[in-house]
Amino acid sequence: MTLREAVLDGLALLLPVECAGCGDPDRAVCARCRPALAPDPCSRRLADGTRVFSALDYDGVAREVILAFKERGRTELAGVLAPGLAASVVAAGAGGEPGGVVELVSVPGSRRSRRRRGFDPVAMLVSRAGLQRATVFAPARPHPAQKSLSLEQRAANLEGVFALRVPVAARRFLLVDDVVTTGATLMAAAAALRAGGAEVVAAAVVASTPKFSGGMIGPHGERSASVP
Ligand SMILES: [Zn+2]
Repeated sequence: MTLREAVLDGLALLLPVECAGCGDPDRAVCARCRPALAPDPCSRRLADGTRVFSALDYDGVAREVILAFKERGRTELAGVLAPGLAASVVAAGAGGEPGGVVELVSVPGSRRSRRRRGFDPVAMLVSRAGLQRATVFAPARPHPAQKSLSLEQRAANLEGVFALRVPVAARRFLLVDDVVTTGATLMAAAAALRAGGAEVVAAAVVASTPKFSGGMIGPHGERSASVP
């Protein structure tokens, strides 16, 4: 934990807090919302064949808690979200041991989002989950927001965004991220690793959108309905 993270955690304890899941005055996450954060890993394949393991559906309480963590500086929520990431990593069959066969690598954020948030959400979750992470990516190059773009537009938008800063040939990686929506970001990061000669064995995330907007295949091989 960095000093900044420790300070943010301390502030969260001092300030009045409402449940990040339902807004009731309570601790970080109230007893009624907690069960919604119990990890239940499942996996789906991205359009490029990469299998993604996810512990939670990105809706309801889980979505509120993740947004509060990432976008509203509620860093104390790392503690309730990290078990989800850990469960996905275990389901993917990788432990992230230092010098292990499969190394964990997180999808890099941009310098700008890091500055805006004051912390790196995925790095914080990885460390809170007790996992080790290899640093192979440079900070993501600035790119327009992905939100309103289709999968194809997102892929084009991400061209050249992820650059490696160390050689990765013959190394094996498990990509980790907080949320997968279309999978465009994970696929772009995986493509950068593969272009460098690495193997991407799978990806592990805390949560995934129940309805992917195309390109995702369900646990039983069905392709999800396309939504705009
Ligand atoms: Zn609640």
